[in-house]
Amino acid sequence: MKDKVLGIVGGGQLGRMIALAAAKLGIECHVYDPDSNAPAFQVCSKSYINDYEDLNAIKQFAKKIDVALYEFENIPLKSAQIIEELCTLRPSSFVLSISQDRLVEKNFLVDKAKVQTAKFYECNSYEDLVNAKELIKGEAVLKTRRFGYDGKGQVKIDSNTNLLEAWKSIVSDELILEEFIFFKRELSIIIARDQSNKTKLYDTVENKHKNHILDQTIAPAPGISDKVSKLSKNIALRIANEIDLIGILAIELFELNNGDLVVNEIAPRPHNSGHWTMDGCVTDQFEQAVRAAVGIDLGSTERLFDIVMQNLIGTDIHLADNLINDPNCRVHKYGKKEIRPGRKMGHVNYLIK
Ligand code: AMP
Repeated sequence: MKDKVLGIVGGGQLGRMIALAAAKLGIECHVYDPDSNAPAFQVCSKSYINDYEDLNAIKQFAKKIDVALYEFENIPLKSAQIIEELCTLRPSSFVLSISQDRLVEKNFLVDKAKVQTAKFYECNSYEDLVNAKELIKGEAVLKTRRFGYDGKGQVKIDSNTNLLEAWKSIVSDELILEEFIFFKRELSIIIARDQSNKTKLYDTVENKHKNHILDQTIAPAPGISDKVSKLSKNIALRIANEIDLIGILAIELFELNNGDLVVNEIAPRPHNSGHWTMDGCVTDQFEQAVRAAVGIDLGSTERLFDIVMQNLIGTDIHLADNLINDPNCRVHKYGKKEIRPGRKMGHVNYLIK
């Protein structure tokens, strides 16, 4: 079989780690990103430095590759559809369209995948917000439907919040109001599904955040009960099958005190909470995404080590120089030139033996 050329839309750290995994399989990657310093450009065979909205450039990119995947959800749907017309896009633009919009996503999760989410209401005006708040009664979170990440475009609402100020604080009038979930902890699970509908699941993990940014992932989730583990797998399978996934999908979950799981959001791409698989599993999430995209059988997701994955954010990256000599650490630096507060610069996987 001729090796395929893989296109990666987005050249951040996820794109970089996808390209590195592809290289192990002998697969050449072309990367598309508007930023000439994108980390993935350092490790690919061809770079396209163009805006995501530049449909001509997108066409040129798509014509030179066999299959594409994307490293984040916020690429314009139109660009994704053009790629899909000219080659293969995995996961499909349909999957992308669902994950791009919190309202569409939540409707899909509830109506089609039949999984539990927080109660939610569409808010397109201040009046909608007032009505939605009446319906939710308790604490709530107001979120933009699109382009939110790491807690950006969100505001917590309680009985003391001035609703008008909250409404004005978000620069969009396409919002949703979600019931605030008093969870025990945050979990996530990653599922891979191939073109013949075969699936592989990674262990369910626990995620800890600092300043709305993922700080640590503990794999597997400490003390997770069989019931919660099975439920999380069941939720992942239901969503992946219903959305007809080809690729990998991360599912963020809130675990409640009674063992119920509430789906927060889904991401059809490698996910920060799956970085532990690089040193913890037979096949990591990046290689799995490549395998699903190019049509190689999915690899084993067996866990070889328990792992604590620590993100290196901002100046934390300086710790990498010491950790690199610790035999129980696996350090991954993203090759970003500029250190900024809150910027993900690398991560370290601690092998727990
Ligand atoms: P998100 O951008 O939706 O992933 O939200 C970022 C973080 O905000 C989550 O990881 C949670 O810690 C918190 N969060 C989001 N939505 C809710 C909610 N409905 N109830 C409680 N916490 C939430």
